[in-house]
Amino acid sequence: MRVKRGIVIKDDWPGYNLDLFTYPEHYHDDIENVYIPHGVIMDRIERLARYVMEDFEDSKIMVLCVLKGGYKFCADLVEFIKVLGRSSNRYLETRVEFIRLKSYLNDQSTEDLHIIGSSDLSFLSGKSVLVVEAIVDTGKTMKALLKHVETFEPKMVKVAGLLVKRLSTMTESLTDYVGFEIPNRFVVGYALDYNEYFRDLNHICVISKSGKMKYKI
Ligand code: 5GP
Repeated sequence: MRVKRGIVIKDDWPGYNLDLFTYPEHYHDDIENVYIPHGVIMDRIERLARYVMEDFEDSKIMVLCVLKGGYKFCADLVEFIKVLGRSSNRYLETRVEFIRLKSYLNDQSTEDLHIIGSSDLSFLSGKSVLVVEAIVDTGKTMKALLKHVETFEPKMVKVAGLLVKRLSTMTESLTDYVGFEIPNRFVVGYALDYNEYFRDLNHICVISKSGKMKYKI
């Protein structure tokens, strides 16, 4: 049976000691631990790609990548879908489009959905759509985005979220494919940023107090 919550990371998970892995030296004091190592991220994404292959009946899908945080997840997910297609007798054609959103300042969510650049998603009309987002926190961003996507009348929409935060306020799940369910901690790396820093970190890590201070704006 499919595990809808993904890999559940418990509240008391301390992460791995930084010395057990390699990471860019300039972040030494800015991260507390390696929360999810890059290899584990990749293995989980391979499995999510399998779910996508199983669920979409069309031979073509439209992948809507939510920038900037989703770019690595999207690239790796699409790559696994291609590899699985080549090694099976069913190839799922993927076309990737991008939407750039911003809802965070420092580590705080702001109320509005800001689409940066074009908000015209008419290329989704009548298509099977996979929205790819790195992290779903309160779900406000995803809810607003899905409402916007629906106005273009796609045939179907599914959501892939690499990370979903476990919140007491969480009511319904908006995410069909969850990589990891994590506690309410601010994480960076694997393209997730803190004021544009840490996107160049391969692992998903918890930012340290001094890291937050150093890169605060
Ligand atoms: P939501 O609207 O679900 O509260 O927030 C979703 C957005 O907030 C994500 O697209 C991401 O940009 C940002 N976000 C939420 N939690 C985190 C986090 O722990 N780390 C980082 N880097 N961004 C986060």
